[in-house]
Amino acid sequence: MRRYHCPSCGAEIWFHNTACLSCGTGLAFLTGRGFGPLGTGGTSACANRAVIGCNWAATGPGGLCLSCAQSTVIPDLSVPGNGRRWARIERDKRALIRMLDALGLPLRDAAGAPAPVFELRGDPIGPAPGPKVITGHAHGTITLNIAEADDAERERIRAEMGEPYRTLAGHLRHEVAHHYWDVLVASDPGALDRLRPIFGDERADYGAALERHYREGPPPGWEATHVTAYATSHPWEDFADTWAHLFNILDSMETALAYELLHDDGLQGLEIAALAALPVGRLAERWIALSVALNAVNEAMGHGSFNPFVLRPAVLEKLEAVRRLLPVAN
Ligand SMILES: [Zn+2]
Ligand SMILES: [Zn+2]
Ligand SMILES: [Zn+2]
Repeated sequence: MRRYHCPSCGAEIWFHNTACLSCGTGLAFLTGRGFGPLGTGGTSACANRAVIGCNWAATGPGGLCLSCAQSTVIPDLSVPGNGRRWARIERDKRALIRMLDALGLPLRDAAGAPAPVFELRGDPIGPAPGPKVITGHAHGTITLNIAEADDAERERIRAEMGEPYRTLAGHLRHEVAHHYWDVLVASDPGALDRLRPIFGDERADYGAALERHYREGPPPGWEATHVTAYATSHPWEDFADTWAHLFNILDSMETALAYELLHDDGLQGLEIAALAALPVGRLAERWIALSVALNAVNEAMGHGSFNPFVLRPAVLEKLEAVRRLLPVAN
């Protein structure tokens, strides 16, 4: 994330602020333009502003912003806590949409409709609850189980699954990867030819692959070739976890540069699109040094690792293959 300043008084503002904390000016964010004072230049507030604290400007039908317009199913607000869960998810989703837009990735389909779209669903409750909601992607629709917005529940699942890292941002980054595989790879024989030798043949039976993964776990030595254990389950999951990891790197490095935590003359002042235009090999050394330092700082505060992932050469090659798909890389 980059840093933003109040359009009225110049004080620093945070990406999720609805008003400047110094001068009180109401803020409205537009992709490609940044923050402006609410109500000027024709900007009006997203219709969800009062409900979930969305601080983006209305741009579409129904008075919704670009990000909220992509949520085609929202949680049942008659269930206690769902308003909070929805707000939490949309907060991370706005940061994701900012990043997708900055990287030049399409946010509409060929017919001009929002894509991907998000269905934010809670598990059914009541005397005869139906099947649980599975987080996943199908044909441009991302379903997210809103229980992931509860820190305690997400941490319980993380521990149960033996994962080193589980975040809402990570879920969103992983699931949009499946959508952009369809958009950027599946329909392009040249891209498929380039990626199959790196990630494997995605025509392998997906259901059987996941079943095997949950039965047997990852193969021994997986760390040499995959960014996560789950990435070993199927080439689609390898691609999605690698994509999510590239997003972690780009967002974190943009943030570190904005706060002058990274000292590299060639990188100073770069924002995310310019970082993504550089080969992963150019970023990796700085990224690893930053991760080591922030892991130590996190430990000093009594937290776990900032970044529990290890990047071996084969994983760097995969990250570079994903990066080359981004419009800003070409
Ligand atoms: Zn201000
Ligand atoms: Zn909104
Ligand atoms: Zn997946």
